[in-house]
Amino acid sequence: MNIESIIVGPIQVNCFIITCPVSNQSAIVDPGDDAENILKTIRSKSLDLKYILLTHGHFDHIGAVSEVKSATGAEIFMHKADTFLVQGAALQAQAFGLPAPDTFVIDSFIDDGDNISVGEFNASVLTTPGHSPGGVCFKFENDIFAGDTLFYGGIGRTDLPGGDYRQLIASIKNKLFVLPDSMRVFCGHGPSTTIRREKKYNPFIQ
Ligand SMILES: [Zn+2]
Repeated sequence: MNIESIIVGPIQVNCFIITCPVSNQSAIVDPGDDAENILKTIRSKSLDLKYILLTHGHFDHIGAVSEVKSATGAEIFMHKADTFLVQGAALQAQAFGLPAPDTFVIDSFIDDGDNISVGEFNASVLTTPGHSPGGVCFKFENDIFAGDTLFYGGIGRTDLPGGDYRQLIASIKNKLFVLPDSMRVFCGHGPSTTIRREKKYNPFIQ
């Protein structure tokens, strides 16, 4: 499995492209902005983009969804509970003084335990509410794409609409910290980490 990361937009979201090298099928996690750059990467490697996987509905994670969808036809997956955030994305962006993302429709709502296959690889969905009500993580083998649930030495903010601090801590403890220590964690912002490192050093969850 190949993982490519592209930092997109003014809030520097980590967008990931996950590819099965055998079939060239791929999935993109959180195309937050910079559609042109994302599409350039997809075209230059002739990737067969099957899915747009959204960890949550915040405007900074969805800005390029519409354009990537139109260019590739990839299916958009998100948890239903974040629909209100996608619908309100223009207002969220405005509050940060940023342009509104183009609108789009979610193709399929995903929930805990759902499986998504990308070529020879399989992703499972873990619901991890707290940063937003419909926050999810996508687990591929020994890698997890955690959106804004867990960061290197940090956790997602819970002061935005639908955020819940206790729920976020419970999600991290009960859904992420039970995973193998060696699991790599690819975060929505900042550097990647491991479950081991965050269990040991994350100051928010001791
Ligand atoms: Zn967020």
